[in-house]
Amino acid sequence: MHYTGTCHCGAVAFAFEAELNELVRCDCSLCAKRNALMATVPKDRFRIARGEQALRLYRWNSGVALHYFCGTCGIYVCHQRRSNPALLSVNACCIGGLDAESLPVRRVDGRSMSTVAGQTKL
Ligand SMILES: [Zn+2]
Repeated sequence: MHYTGTCHCGAVAFAFEAELNELVRCDCSLCAKRNALMATVPKDRFRIARGEQALRLYRWNSGVALHYFCGTCGIYVCHQRRSNPALLSVNACCIGGLDAESLPVRRVDGRSMSTVAGQTKL
């Protein structure tokens, strides 16, 4: 199925093809604070349709995962996973026309993922 979405202000727009059978919640310190509800999308089926220059990058701890958010409205858009760089997690609440309540939510254990000693573990 074809999906499109935007951040809150509309500066960033994206599109992807995927069959969404579930959404994911993670309990790591970052996902917990941004209250992230995410769809899993293969990176090669996702594209930024508008506003790539508006995206800001946030990296923390190991620095492997790439967290993108809109520099204007601050909304988290997507991130490239640490566990599998070929997969993106996309903010389900930014996906147009998606009834997030209709999909089962799988909880993943991000809190116990290893963190790098000496780096900030927030
Ligand atoms: Zn925005």
